[in-house]
Amino acid sequence: MINEKMYCLGSQRSEIRELFEYAKRRKAEIGEENVYDFSLGNPSVPCPKEVNSAMASLLDSENPVALHGYTSAEGDLNARMAIAEYLTKLHGLTVSASDLYLTAGAAAALAATLTALVTPGEEVIILAPYFPEYRVFIERCGGVVKEVGCEQTSFMPDVAAIADAISEKTAAIIINSPNNPTGAVYSADVIRELSEMLRRKSSEYGHSIYLIADEPYRELVYDGIDVPFIPCYYEDTVVCYSYSKSLSLAGERIGYVLVSPGANESRRVYSAVCGAGRALGYVCAPSLLQKILPYCTGKTSDINVYIENRQLLFTNLKKYGYDVLRPDGAFYLFVKSPVDNAHTFSEMAKRREIIIVPSDSFGIRGYVRISYCVSTEMIKKALDAFAALARDVGLKGDNTNG
Ligand code: PLP
Repeated sequence: MINEKMYCLGSQRSEIRELFEYAKRRKAEIGEENVYDFSLGNPSVPCPKEVNSAMASLLDSENPVALHGYTSAEGDLNARMAIAEYLTKLHGLTVSASDLYLTAGAAAALAATLTALVTPGEEVIILAPYFPEYRVFIERCGGVVKEVGCEQTSFMPDVAAIADAISEKTAAIIINSPNNPTGAVYSADVIRELSEMLRRKSSEYGHSIYLIADEPYRELVYDGIDVPFIPCYYEDTVVCYSYSKSLSLAGERIGYVLVSPGANESRRVYSAVCGAGRALGYVCAPSLLQKILPYCTGKTSDINVYIENRQLLFTNLKKYGYDVLRPDGAFYLFVKSPVDNAHTFSEMAKRREIIIVPSDSFGIRGYVRISYCVSTEMIKKALDAFAALARDVGLKGDNTNG
């Protein structure tokens, strides 16, 4: 006998991966340069030079046995101290090494946090559109997913709708800002409103409702917009952070869980996260990646490329007549499907060699996601195809090029 649920997860690719594989096949058929693959959120700019130089100098100078050996389960103390110092300085909230648990990226941080906080039958609220893996992680620990839609024009959380969805079984809510797939960045006002409501509901039901802040895109914001640091607003917060996007290290796997020092049961929550990591067999995050962190906190890859890509796509797609949400962060453009069914639109786009993801797998219908973490050159070439696609679906904008 095998676990059928796991069999299904492993034998069916996600729709995003399916499209990515299609793009690979298509590139082999007609040439790499003729396919405009906007499917995946894989960073397209190299990591900052500090990453490679820290790795090189560690490889050169450190005792290789210690460098590549197990670290303590919660992570190398120097790395956690460096992150704690950085966060304290940046946000004015005292964070200690003992609040941090290093992980293999945000995915592992989320899986450990949910395993720590959710018992079978308890509910976790997620805001549609959402990162599809949330459902996988929640259901793995026997939790029940409760979807709540965001406000449809801004894609900000609808606090009243969230309040309505909370019950005595609610263990946690996951928020993700800057957001995949919309690019929305939640304002301080919305976070304040959400925090007040959660505090009210926690006291009504007599237990903490945790706010899980999934933040792999924290540094990827545009026009100087601020990303509120959630532990400054709501005590019972657990931050799941990743260096996958900020340092372009998605394949290397490094991130952390931060249990807010102000959480009502912060020590017990922290121990539960460590226990969850143990139960999940994580052992420790990749050692070399942990040890570069003291040299790289506060650094980012060159996000100017994403700024340029965002501007190029946003202005031109608008010009062609597409209904596009202006993204404040992350590297995704969320576009209303000009035809009834977003799958149909994605198929039509394929005929123009454009690979974009229908929003259904993010828990909402009628949109497509365009990942603009690609080369600017590719976007420039793809614009003609987007203009032609606009004509295919009868959009009224200025789509005469291409
Ligand atoms: N959360 C969101 C919203 C994401 O978009 C991603 C990756 O794309 C993750 C979590 C997982 O990131 P990581 O590579 O750090 O595991």
